[in-house]
Amino acid sequence: AAYIGISIGGLSSFYSELNKSIGAGSRIWEIMDREAEIPLKGGIIPLEAPKGKIVFQNVVFSYPSREDIKIFHNLNLEIEPGKMVAVVGPSGSGKSTLAALLLRLYDPITGAIYLDDYEIDKLDPVWLKKFIGTVSQEPVLFSTSIRDNILYGTDDPSKTPEEKFLQVSKEANVHEFVQNLPQGYDTLVGERGIMLSGGQKQRVAIARALIKDPKILLLDEATSALDAHSEHLVQEALERVMKGRTVLTIAHRLSTIQNADTIAVLKNGEIVEKGTYQELLNLSKGVFKELMKHQTFKVTQ
Ligand code: ATP
Repeated sequence: AAYIGISIGGLSSFYSELNKSIGAGSRIWEIMDREAEIPLKGGIIPLEAPKGKIVFQNVVFSYPSREDIKIFHNLNLEIEPGKMVAVVGPSGSGKSTLAALLLRLYDPITGAIYLDDYEIDKLDPVWLKKFIGTVSQEPVLFSTSIRDNILYGTDDPSKTPEEKFLQVSKEANVHEFVQNLPQGYDTLVGERGIMLSGGQKQRVAIARALIKDPKILLLDEATSALDAHSEHLVQEALERVMKGRTVLTIAHRLSTIQNADTIAVLKNGEIVEKGTYQELLNLSKGVFKELMKHQTFKVTQ
């Protein structure tokens, strides 16, 4: 279900319910909006906010339920602060898993993932996640008001100034449709309220990510069909959100792939090609070329 019927206060019991309902093969991104599977506390809390450099170093990974299958054999990837890496690769190559590891939903078997100079498994997970915003292609909204859905991204909703809330909602292109709702931001969504369109839900999810002012953004671009206007509003909001942040995106749009600082091509458990769009196209053959031939990317300007 795309809407979950709980109030913000009921989250802890919700997690245990969620844990029960998540089986192997379910969509990782549905849980990324919330919390790690591994309840972790403690660890280093650096004094300063991170710069946002991310390094995957010799990462080897299997899912605990499928130890026989190596998702990553020896994965290496670096993202400099403020740069965008677009991950492409065949279905099942591990694009979402890469994001799950960064969020510490799972830990690598060997190898390490760094944020700046810190191995992420040494960091306090609550601190780590404060700096990572996620926007998935099918965001899960809670069956509560639009305001609470956005404020869910913050540590303490009561401490968020209204001014900041409105600014973020405007940047995410939420404000324009909320203004037309009779109850504005207090309008309930989901089973108890109105059903939002796919594009509206994505924009609420963007506002939820943005209100944290994250250093790092994990994006799973939409493949679902949105009408041209909605598509444009989502894209515009995403572009605003990406500015000045380290971005790891699972790319489905040709425009994203073209604009990425680096495209990382995943196949058979490792990054097999890396470069800008032009660099990868200039290769005489390769996985990227094959993907471009067979995959129909959305063309958005
Ligand atoms: P797609 O493009 O189809 O979304 P992807 O490249 O994002 O795929 P992942 O979702 O990361 O791929 O999955 C990589 C592999 O890991 C797949 O073979 C998938 O079946 C498997 N997998 C994903 N989640 C789990 C899980 N929770 N437990 C066991 N295996 C999993």
